[in-house]
Amino acid sequence: MENWVKAGKIAAESREYAASLIKPNISLLEISEKVEKFIKDKGAEEGFPSPQLSINNIAAHYIAFPNDKTIIQKGDVVKVDIGIHFEGCVGDNATTVEAGTNKFSKLIEATHKARDNAIKEVKEGIQVCKIGEAIEETAKSYGFKVITNLSGHNLKPYIIHGGITIPNYNNGDKTKLKNNEVIAIEPFLIENGSGLIKEGKSSSIYRLDSNRIPRDIFQRQLIQYIITKYQTLPFSTRQLAKVFPLSRLQIALALLKRQRIISEYAQLPEQSGAIVAQAENTIIVKQDHAEITTKI
Ligand code: MN
Ligand code: MN
Repeated sequence: MENWVKAGKIAAESREYAASLIKPNISLLEISEKVEKFIKDKGAEEGFPSPQLSINNIAAHYIAFPNDKTIIQKGDVVKVDIGIHFEGCVGDNATTVEAGTNKFSKLIEATHKARDNAIKEVKEGIQVCKIGEAIEETAKSYGFKVITNLSGHNLKPYIIHGGITIPNYNNGDKTKLKNNEVIAIEPFLIENGSGLIKEGKSSSIYRLDSNRIPRDIFQRQLIQYIITKYQTLPFSTRQLAKVFPLSRLQIALALLKRQRIISEYAQLPEQSGAIVAQAENTIIVKQDHAEITTKI
């Protein structure tokens, strides 16, 4: 379990550092570069492209693009989601920061509370719907709603979504969690609105889908790099642009996508445009409690 704990600690430190940088008038690229350096200086590797910085109604999957021009505006509600791994064991955690205002403090507080109340329920044998119930009840006690089509997940080495869904409401799933199962609990709350996310614009975050080897020499070189560096973990255009020239890279990624060798994640906006808050921890299920790995 050592790698999970080690990854979790650095994920938490990186999350707090990233959160401290969120202020009006700073660019997403500047935050991203500082956080990437922080992670590198710790001797750690990103478990997925990090920091993901999703603003306002974008719930998740926004990573700064190469040449990203986004500047944080006063009042923006920014989700910081960071993954760190050691030998494929990922610490996945997130928090939400409002830049320069306090209009959504209650929403942000409720989201963290929902996560923490859910974690209190966790022990060996718990049904996943009971975790969802604790999240939903906390949200309701504040007068807020959960996004029902986003959920937590279990984690396995080099696999971020290991096949078990941790719902954010009582969906009736009676799957029981085993001792030493590693899971991420991540409620997404809104004040009001549809409570559903849809698939939005392209994210420039990809994953490898097939071990077919492309015929094109550059594409082949790229795939070999991806397999060595990321294995089955997600990667982004901007990470690869540190190694490969951007214009060739973008063309190759598009062609690899068309060949279904890689696939691209979509940004995930809330359908009705509601402001979304997220809070996430990775935990290890124990006999009578949960051990949070993503803590400092
Ligand atoms: Mn996450
Ligand atoms: Mn997660």
